[in-house]
Amino acid sequence: MDPVAHRRRWRGALVRARRLIVALLTALLDPLVELVLRRDCAGCSDPGDPLCVRCRTLLTDHRPRQARGRRPPVWTAGPYAGRHRRVLLAFKHRGSTA
Ligand SMILES: [Zn+2]
Repeated sequence: MDPVAHRRRWRGALVRARRLIVALLTALLDPLVELVLRRDCAGCSDPGDPLCVRCRTLLTDHRPRQARGRRPPVWTAGPYAGRHRRVLLAFKHRGSTA
């Protein structure tokens, strides 16, 4: 067999084996990582997602507005209360991005 073709065949087999090993390790370790480093929703603390569907919808439904009477002009992405506030503070203080 041509040595170059033989080397290519082995290299291809190694690449496929490495991908398979990575996929297996990912499948095995992801649940453990999720268990140890569980990320609750920043808005409502529900387990599972860093930002649950309910909170994400609430945040995206709010259109930015210009605050009245502010100089220089200030734009708000939502009220500084409730879920909006908790998500903002999670991003600001814990670097939580969803
Ligand atoms: Zn939530």
